[in-house]
Amino acid sequence: MSERHAIPSYLQPDALGPWGSYLQQIDRVTPYLGHLSRWVETLKRPKRVMIVDVPIQLDNGTIAHFEGYRVQHNVSRGPGKGGVRFHQDVTLTEVMSLAAWMSVKNATVNVPFGGAKGGVRVDPRTLSRAELERVTRRYTSEINVIIGPNTDIPAPDVNTNEQVMAWMMDTYSQNLGRTATGVVTGKPISLGGSLGRRDATGRGVFVVASEAARRIGLELPGARIAVQGFGNVGGVAARLFHDAGAKIVAAQDHSATLYAPGGLDTHALLAHVAEHRGIAGFPGAETLDDPAEFFKIESDILIPAALEEQITAQNAGAIRTRIIVEGANGPTTPAADDILQENGVLVIPDVVANAGGVTVSYFEWVQDFSSFFWSEDEINQRLDRVMREAFDAVWQVSVDKHVTIRTAAYIVACTRILEARELRGLYP
Ligand code: GLU
Repeated sequence: MSERHAIPSYLQPDALGPWGSYLQQIDRVTPYLGHLSRWVETLKRPKRVMIVDVPIQLDNGTIAHFEGYRVQHNVSRGPGKGGVRFHQDVTLTEVMSLAAWMSVKNATVNVPFGGAKGGVRVDPRTLSRAELERVTRRYTSEINVIIGPNTDIPAPDVNTNEQVMAWMMDTYSQNLGRTATGVVTGKPISLGGSLGRRDATGRGVFVVASEAARRIGLELPGARIAVQGFGNVGGVAARLFHDAGAKIVAAQDHSATLYAPGGLDTHALLAHVAEHRGIAGFPGAETLDDPAEFFKIESDILIPAALEEQITAQNAGAIRTRIIVEGANGPTTPAADDILQENGVLVIPDVVANAGGVTVSYFEWVQDFSSFFWSEDEINQRLDRVMREAFDAVWQVSVDKHVTIRTAAYIVACTRILEARELRGLYP
C-alpha cells in the first residue's frame, strides 16, 4: 500500500470542496434572516462528527481498512436524518456538506428532523456481496452509539440500497437485543419499509419540475429532458417524464454519455441499466466520447442527478436549457448559480427538488412507530402535496424578496432551524 494511502484522507491537505459551496450559500441567506442572523454561526459548523475505522477481512483473506463517517449537522428541529453513501471519493468535508444540506432540506419541506449524513470511502463495485455486507455491518456497529430511531436515522444514498438498509437495521438490532425497525428508512417492504419509498426522490423531482414548468409556460408533452445520473433518482425521474410525453434527449452516467435528439426509449434504457449497471452500450442512441459535451446539449429541462459540483463556473455558461432541477445534492456551485441566473436559467435547488426521498422516509419512520402501514396511493398523494406546498411557499418568497429559488428555500429553512435554536436557548 502506497505512503499516500496510509494517511487517512481527513488528514490530507484538502480543499473545502462542497463544504465551501455550502458556506457561501449560508452567507447569501444571512442578510435575510433578521434578528436570527445572530445564530447563523450554528449553521456553519456541524454539531457532531464521527470518524471511524472500518476494517474487514476480504474474501482472499487479507484485511482492508476503510474510512467511515457519520456527521450530525444540526438537531435543533428533531433527530438527525440523512443517507449513507458508499463511494471511493467520500471525504469528511463532503459528508459535512451533505449533512448540512439535509438540515436545510428537512426544514424546507418541514419534516421534523435535523440533518445528518454518513459515508464510507469504498468503491462497492470492487467488493463481493459478502464483503459489502461486512463493510455495512462493521460501519453500522462503529456508528452504533450515535444512531437510533430517536437519535439519528440513516437511509440510502449513492450506492446504498434496501439490502444495505436491512443489514444496518439487523446490526443495530442485534447490538440492542431487540428489533428496532425505525433506526433506518428505505428498508425492504417486508422489514417495515414504506410503499413508494424507492421511487420517492425521482417522483418528487418530477412533481417539482412539473410545477416549475407550468409557471414558465413550458408544456411537458414534447419537452426535451437531459438527465445526468441514471440511478434511483435520475432513472425514475426520466421514466415519469417519458410517461408524461416528454423526450429524454440525453443521458449521462459514470459509464457513458448518450444523445438522442428524437428521444430515448426510456423503459428500454432502464432495463439495460438493470442488466449492465450503466447506460454504456445502449443501442438506439448516439454515444458521445467527450463527457463534457453533455452540458452543451440543448434541452428544456436539465436534471443533474449524480454527484456534487458538476455545474461549475467552467461549464455553466455553455448550458442551454430553461430549467435545472437538482436531483443530486449540491450539483451546482455558487459561481455557476450566478452565471445561470444571468443567463435566465431557472434553477430549482436540491433542498426542494430532491426532498421527496426524505419526505417518504419520514412517512416510513411514522409508520414504523405506529406499526400501521399506508397504501401506496396514500403515500404518493401525501408526497405530492408536501412537494407542491413546499415548492409554492419557496416560489412565493422568491417573488416577494426578488431572490433565487435557492436563496428563497434557504430563507424558509434557515428561519425554521434558527427559530428552533433560539427558542431552545443555549445550555448551560
Ligand atoms: N439520501 C437521500 C437524500 O439525500 C434521502 C435521505 C433520507 O431519506 O433520509 O435526501
